[in-house]
Amino acid sequence: MIAIPSPLRLRLDSAALVANWRWLATQSGGAACGAAVKANGYGLGAREVMGHLAAAGCRDFFVATWAEAAALMPLPEGVSLSVLHGVGEADMVAARLLPARPVLGSLEQVARWRAAGEGRPCDVMVDTGMSRLGLRVEEATGGALAGLAIDTLLSHLASADEESDQNARQLAAFREVRQAITARRYSLANSAGICLGAEYGFDLTRPGLALYGGTPRGEAAGHIRQVVFPETRLLQVRTVHVGETVGYGATWTAPRDSRIAVANLGYADGFLRCHAGAASATWQGHALPLVGRVSMDLTAFDASEAGAIAEGDWLSIDYDLLVVSAATGLSQYELLTGLGNRFERRWG
Ligand SMILES: *Cc1c(COP(=O)(O)O)cnc(C)c1O
Repeated sequence: MIAIPSPLRLRLDSAALVANWRWLATQSGGAACGAAVKANGYGLGAREVMGHLAAAGCRDFFVATWAEAAALMPLPEGVSLSVLHGVGEADMVAARLLPARPVLGSLEQVARWRAAGEGRPCDVMVDTGMSRLGLRVEEATGGALAGLAIDTLLSHLASADEESDQNARQLAAFREVRQAITARRYSLANSAGICLGAEYGFDLTRPGLALYGGTPRGEAAGHIRQVVFPETRLLQVRTVHVGETVGYGATWTAPRDSRIAVANLGYADGFLRCHAGAASATWQGHALPLVGRVSMDLTAFDASEAGAIAEGDWLSIDYDLLVVSAATGLSQYELLTGLGNRFERRWG
């Protein structure tokens, strides 16, 4: 095999990831702090995220599907893994084989798990206001769970990143569920829920976004560090004369003779058209505004002020998640999970 250098890379800061987890653990009050690593660790690489966080003391991880669980085997020593989508009929083989717990989310799933006669502990999701996954409260408290070995009883907050009365209502509903149903542990809060206060922590919290550098609420601002730094190599630096245009649709016209840096990055990499007009890159301290439309594999930046910039140089894409989210209208979640497979992921 020849080693083919990638023209795109994500620089991933493991110290920032661990620092974010530690801050979230502190904010979780007495609760243990887990980690949501679904969608390949929000695009960073679930295995590497799990390795770094397990080494720091994190013991509880959450994926969405059994395929994501299988990709994380073998688990680090002492680590527990839960599969948020529970068990469909087609998942039962994987659920029997893998050392992970389903988060049962409907009466059908509870019946399926019982019928399998596993007897192993499972997790259960109870819906307190999201109306997405989870047993209704009256289903959960009506005897359907009797005799199940429940490790963790979960619910999920719908509006934790907003000032909403729904948070207090869900907290109250979850407290009632907790009185009614016996489980080893109870878990309610995601990243934003942790910021709502220690009473949302119960026994275990489940942050995702904030681990990876997202700011779920104002309380986290100044505490959460950026983890993901996209970088792209320049294919060429070209002269564009005043009045000439750049890219599809000729949406940018050079207001003066310009130097245009063409980068190896496009919407196929998750760098979408809505970044145009909003995004910039940095080269040796110089800011390079994006010009024209984003293409599938190429993006142009105005490098007129960037001195000796040349083909082969690396540009840092400005990727403060709050700033880019406000500028593009994409959520911080989309900005992370959209980053494509052509990025080489480099942990430092
Ligand atoms: C994704 C997810 C989380 C993590 O949410 P963040 O907002 O990223 O912190 C926690 N719990 C459940 C059930 C989830 O689906």
